[in-house]
Amino acid sequence: MASCIFCKIVQGQIPSEIVYEDDNVIAFRDVNPQAKVHILIVPKKHINPMTEINEKQAKVMSDIFLAAKEIAGRQKIGGRGFRMIMNVGSDAGQEVEHLHVHLLGGEKLGKLVG
Ligand code: AMP
Repeated sequence: MASCIFCKIVQGQIPSEIVYEDDNVIAFRDVNPQAKVHILIVPKKHINPMTEINEKQAKVMSDIFLAAKEIAGRQKIGGRGFRMIMNVGSDAGQEVEHLHVHLLGGEKLGKLVG
């Protein structure tokens, strides 16, 4: 999508610190980190999480989870643990309408739920 900031990152039109890439997924450091390690995992294809997640798109979620495991290993936080967050829609404060999962870690994180 032409106006989407994450599509521009995927296409290399906006610089970012990419930490992982495969055929379907790219991951880069969040520009406004909320933890020592704060990475955004993004499908290369533009998907709006509010309207476009369906059974045809389901594989993208497993792609993201597999990428998260690999990234956590590369960032050396897999052993201590990390958190994955997906903001969906305005009540959750979603700013960018391109599906993404935040991977946070590298320090003790305050508990949110549970
Ligand atoms: P969300 O609120 O879940 O939509 O999160 C969007 C995230 O994208 C925020 O944490 C922003 O800091 C981050 N962000 C926005 N623009 C960029 C960018 N150019 N490079 C890296 N992260 C970005």
